[in-house]
This record gives sequence, structure tokens and C-alpha cells, in this order.
Amino acid sequence: MHWLRITLGILLLLAAALALLQGLTPVYRFDDQPTPFRGKGWYNPFEGETLTWTRANFHIHSYAWGGLTNGHQSPAEIQRVYDSLGYRWVGIADYQRINPHSPIPLYEHGWSVGKVHQLCFWAEKVRWWDYPLYQSLSAKQHILKLLRPTTPFLVVAHPRFLHSYTGDELAKLGGYDAIEVLNRYGDSVAEWDSALSSGHYASILGSDNAHDVYNLHEVMSRWTEIALPSSASEESLRKALLVGRTVGYKNRTPFPLQSSEYPLFSRITMRGDSMLEVKTSMPVDSLRIVGQGGQVRSTAYQTDTLSYHPQAEDTYLRIEAFTKAVEAYTSPLIRGTQPKRRLIPPIDMRLTILQGVGWMLTSLFLILLGLRLLRTKYDKR
Ligand SMILES: [Zn+2]
Repeated sequence: MHWLRITLGILLLLAAALALLQGLTPVYRFDDQPTPFRGKGWYNPFEGETLTWTRANFHIHSYAWGGLTNGHQSPAEIQRVYDSLGYRWVGIADYQRINPHSPIPLYEHGWSVGKVHQLCFWAEKVRWWDYPLYQSLSAKQHILKLLRPTTPFLVVAHPRFLHSYTGDELAKLGGYDAIEVLNRYGDSVAEWDSALSSGHYASILGSDNAHDVYNLHEVMSRWTEIALPSSASEESLRKALLVGRTVGYKNRTPFPLQSSEYPLFSRITMRGDSMLEVKTSMPVDSLRIVGQGGQVRSTAYQTDTLSYHPQAEDTYLRIEAFTKAVEAYTSPLIRGTQPKRRLIPPIDMRLTILQGVGWMLTSLFLILLGLRLLRTKYDKR
């Protein structure tokens, strides 16, 4: 039964490595009380103009790592497909690699089994640190803390996918800028509302998460419209993403659409902080305004306009539009003067040390046990 001892010994050493990793996780002191957006006035990312829109997708996987990861085409092929569909902004988000040929440079961070992933835009370098198996809330916060200084726009990717981030977690975590609410692997509207209700400004992104751009179902299933003219610079794009000049779209048909086939928001205006006015480029089946707790505050049917008088209990307001072809979700308007985001919470030193010592001892015990098993086999030989 030598092989059984060897296997068991190796498994124990692996478990020891994982225990060591847990021991290195800082424990954060999260605020238990959410602080919803407050203030007399409203911050409106779309204020004051007739809006122009450009289409974007920042989550496409190309052929990378010698085919080890899921991705089929070269950046040039990907660009050709999205150009033909009229996209202005394209980002290739390979796993753990900033593709030098991506028009907008970014990468997808994360290699855990739970698919806890983040999109790091304009990242200066790739971070490899991750927690491969279980990720506590503190572990998730630690990853965001490590990524934060490397990227000016940090996005929590596809929360609903394997429930990698729950709504409760997004209501406590700090240090992220946006949520990829719409993604082919799972749409996360409830999780987003939870983050917004807790008083954290997260702009919306929608993405195909395409791995094969020649598969009709993978292309233009979700995307982002950005309130920028096509002549805008990359610097303006960076600002627009951060301040929330984005609308996420979900395609309800099985085919890519022309922009003439779906509604765009022509105007989203807050008049004198007391009247929200919305106008779409074409009549839609319904327009909805959603606020605190994901509650629907107002609905209008078969129309291209909607007005709403904000109530005292409204802390944020976002707009949804539905047609036969698409669903559209705007980034929120919030009470206050600017997008407010939770910072990374402080570390609880006492708990971090206590927990660290506990895991280190566990790890040491597992190492000794593993080595003992392996050595017994060696002695007998
Ligand atoms: Zn992912």
C-alpha cells in the first residue's frame, strides 16, 4: 500500500500549503451599517445635453497561453468581427495577461475554482496572487486591495456566475469602481442593487464574455453603450467609465442588432433636483425607474418619455427600458454631488494575528503528518 501512503502524504502537504495561504489572509473590519446615498441634490452622470452613444465590449478572450485557456481567435480577427458590428471600443481580456494587441488594454484577474474574477483596465502589471479554493469576504477584499493600485478602473466581473460575489458581499466590499452586471454567464441586477443600496457607486458594464467570436450566440449578446462621441479619446473613455456614463444592454434576440433596431437614451435630465425626465430615441414597451432596495419607483408603457418626482426615500435612481429586442439598464443617478465609493476597510490586526497563528499551526501539523507518511515509505525501502 505504498502508493496510498505517498498519495495521502502529498495531499496533506497540499492541504498544508492551502492552510498557510489562509493564514496569510488579512481579516478586515467591515462596516455593519450600510450608508445609503444622502443629500438634497442629485448627481446625474448624464446631465445637461442630448446624448450621443458609442458601443463597447471589454470582455473577450483571445487564443492565449498556448490554448490552455478558453479562447479561439487572434486579436486581429476579434477586432474585425466587432468592427463589422459597429463597435467603437473593444477590449481583449485574457486571463492573467495584458494582451499587447488589445485596443483597450486590460486583463481578467483570477484563477480560483469559484470564478471570483475582476477586470483590470489599463493595468500597469498583472497580479498573480489569488485564493484558489474557498474565498472568505476578507480574501475577496484582500484581492481588491492588491489590484487597486495597479488599475485606474477596477471592475467586479460577473457576480452571479457561480455566485462568486453575493449581493451581501458587494454591499460590504470596498475599492471597486464598477460591476459587470450583464454577462453571458449570468446577469447580476439584484447584486448590483444591493451594492447601490449600501451607498457604493458602481457603474454598469455589459459584456459578451466571448470566447469564440464566430459563434453567433456569443457576439453582441450583452454590451455597453458609452455616452461619448466616436471621436472621443481613451482618456475621456476612462473618465466616462468612472463617472458612470454607461448603459448596459442585453440582446433578447439570437442575432446581433443594428443600432437602429434598439432604443438609445436621448436625454436623462434631473430638473432642479426635483424632476427626473427620460427620453428614448424610439418608443419602447416599457420604461422603469428603480431605486433603493431594487424597488420599482415608476413605470410607463408604450412610450418614449417618462417623468418622475423623486421622493425623500429615493437614494439612487436608475432607468430600465424594455423592447422585444433588448433590455437596457443605465448607471444610477444618486443623491450627493459626485460618485461615492466605499474605500478599502481597515485590517483587524488582533483577528488577523489570531487567525494567522491558528492556520500556521494547522499547516505545521499537516506538514509533519505528511512528511511522516512519506518518510515511512522511504525507511521501508
Ligand atoms: Zn471570468
